[in-house]
Amino acid sequence: MKIPFSPPYIDEAVINEVVDSLRSGWITSGPKVKALEEEIKVFSNAKEVLCVNSWTSGAIMMLRWLGVTAEDEVIVPAYTYSATALAVLHAGAKPVMVDSGEDFNISVEAIRKAITPKTKAIIPVDIAGFPCDYDRIMKLVNEPEIRNLFHATSPTQEKLGRILVMNDAAHSLGAYYSKNQRTGCETDIAIFSLHAVKNVTTAEGGAICLNLPEPFDNAELYKELRMMSLNCQTKDAFSKSKAGGWRYDIVGLGMKINMADVNAAIGLAQIREYPELLKERKRVFNTYSKGFADCDWAVLPPSVDGEKESSYHIYALRIKGFTEEQRDRMIDEIAKSEVAVNVHFIPMPMLSFFNSLGYDIKNYPQAYENFKGEISLPIYPQLDVEQLAFIIKTVKAAYDKVIGDK
Ligand SMILES: *Cc1c(COP(=O)(O)O)cnc(C)c1O
Repeated sequence: MKIPFSPPYIDEAVINEVVDSLRSGWITSGPKVKALEEEIKVFSNAKEVLCVNSWTSGAIMMLRWLGVTAEDEVIVPAYTYSATALAVLHAGAKPVMVDSGEDFNISVEAIRKAITPKTKAIIPVDIAGFPCDYDRIMKLVNEPEIRNLFHATSPTQEKLGRILVMNDAAHSLGAYYSKNQRTGCETDIAIFSLHAVKNVTTAEGGAICLNLPEPFDNAELYKELRMMSLNCQTKDAFSKSKAGGWRYDIVGLGMKINMADVNAAIGLAQIREYPELLKERKRVFNTYSKGFADCDWAVLPPSVDGEKESSYHIYALRIKGFTEEQRDRMIDEIAKSEVAVNVHFIPMPMLSFFNSLGYDIKNYPQAYENFKGEISLPIYPQLDVEQLAFIIKTVKAAYDKVIGDK
């Protein structure tokens, strides 16, 4: 039985919405982008939402807006997708990697130890869609000693007066951080990814959620950032296309990272169905957890903790006591049955580029521990009972094979 890892969810509603954009004659940033921003705003409770062409470009822009320089440090987990740290490097600052906890998420104690007067931002990542401990993180950056340590070197930093918290919410659209609060509104900035493999997609895309405290005006900031995402040009294509409105100015060094309406159309149709799709993801997740409950070798991933609830983006199974080599052999066995699985993630210090910059996996023991026995199973709404039973049977058989082989 051939089972792909993460096919996009494309139904008639999605196709119709895209066709509608094509037929309208308006294909780049316009009404569909605006409508998607409104939907995400309602969904996440964020004060303002700006859509851009990827998580990565959105994160670079926000760090540039913060005014970081080569002297500045941004704390990130070692265990994440590389974009988290690459965005920091592209913005011209230094990523300071810290270790994670057993729940895959950044360790708040490790953050505390890594803070210096050069720390300008923290980027926690909701790995697999399970939210980080934002109560503790927001409290930490507001502690008087931590605030006193903060040394602003740009007008934006001066205005904030403390370390910025920017949630890498690439996985967690739809996750609950607390009972009535979804991720997107719990930190100064949160960015969702709308890349093809994410829970809601625009093929490529990102959504920046703005929740900055006083004296920032989030509505004003939205306008400023929207312009910044369009080369800092005072008139966008929408207003320029009106008769007579031809004159424009360039008022700063922006980026060209706006989202197009044809892309937004995909996400717009999906997000309307998302509450239902999320239930299906949860069904798949819980089927796995039930299926592996009797296996003493299986470490099941977290999904609910108090009021926190995952967006069920990745099912990160871990095999107790397995070495990397055993895990890899188990994946080879699973592949023989044509079930596509993955590993989330190779800790960044193990990748050549970051290794060449001096990051060493020895300093991140829990990240390595989480990685070495990890296998991500397919999780998406289309998976049915029969397919799920086949995947579970295949994974169990692969484990037996590897253990029998030793
Ligand atoms: C997918 C992903 C990103 C990057 O998203 P893009 O939209 O592809 O730039 C960033 N962080 C994490 C954790 C991701 O999984």
